[in-house]
Amino acid sequence: MSSVASVVAARFEAGLRPAGSGIDMTGVSKGFRVGRRSLPALDRLDLQTSENSFVSLLGPSGCGKSTALRILAGLEQADAGQALVHGETPAELVSQHHLGIAFQDSALLPWRSVEANIRLPLEVAGQRPAPGLIADLVALVGLVGFERARPAQLSGGMRQRVAIARALVLQPRVLLLDEPFGALDDMTRQRLNLELQRIWTERPATTLMVTHGIAEAVLLSDQVAVMSARPGRIIALVPIGLKRPRTAAMMRSPEFHAYHDRLSERLFGTEGEAE
Ligand code: ADP
Ligand code: MG
Repeated sequence: MSSVASVVAARFEAGLRPAGSGIDMTGVSKGFRVGRRSLPALDRLDLQTSENSFVSLLGPSGCGKSTALRILAGLEQADAGQALVHGETPAELVSQHHLGIAFQDSALLPWRSVEANIRLPLEVAGQRPAPGLIADLVALVGLVGFERARPAQLSGGMRQRVAIARALVLQPRVLLLDEPFGALDDMTRQRLNLELQRIWTERPATTLMVTHGIAEAVLLSDQVAVMSARPGRIIALVPIGLKRPRTAAMMRSPEFHAYHDRLSERLFGTEGEAE
């Protein structure tokens, strides 16, 4: 039986719904060798999202969020289960340049200018930038005037904007973000989150953002997937019905607080509830 057929069969047996059109992780397990033992990081994680939706992966530190993202990005191999986006394996997504990724640490090359950092994935892919593409991205992330600056001349927030622009340069259909603003102060983070929403609205992509910030997950997401403590599994998938565009004022609304409370209950459990 082909691997796809066996996954379909396993899904059928397990009574799972058919593969979503966006991200599809089914029964994904992953352990890491520590000394002689293999400690589980992910335990049969299931996550289905739809195309061009923004989904956050919310969970306590060490629960396996980055591991799940790294599997989708083809940077780690799952021990069991299957990870697909738009029906493609991580290796196919990478080889067809469908993937954009940005991490907490912007990981810019210090000797390259803003423009040259943004251009890097194109060079790696052996492509030339379309006329105006880099200038458009610089404008999209609000860095006009800083094209020739080096990373050391930029603030942390500006460096993360460069990282987002670089993630978008291949015009990816899939965007994977690992706590992209996690190292920034709260005010900068909130501002950049609103900018990320604008950027994502202008350039829709099937997006998975890892975070341990509840408010940021509610603000940005169509759905929030809550993970259990290690070994990680998805314990709830909460749709966020707030209308778009979402605003800073909305974060003070009762509706927003209700989502926040509901997610923190799932995350931390309520008294008397075993979770
Ligand atoms: P999160 O992003 O949710 O904080 P991670 O996915 O980074 O969690 O890690 C999940 C668990 O797997 C942690 O206990 C971490 O120590 C372990 N882990 C992650 N990567 C490795 C690795 N390369 N080698 C050994 N253990 C790892
Ligand atoms: Mg992490």
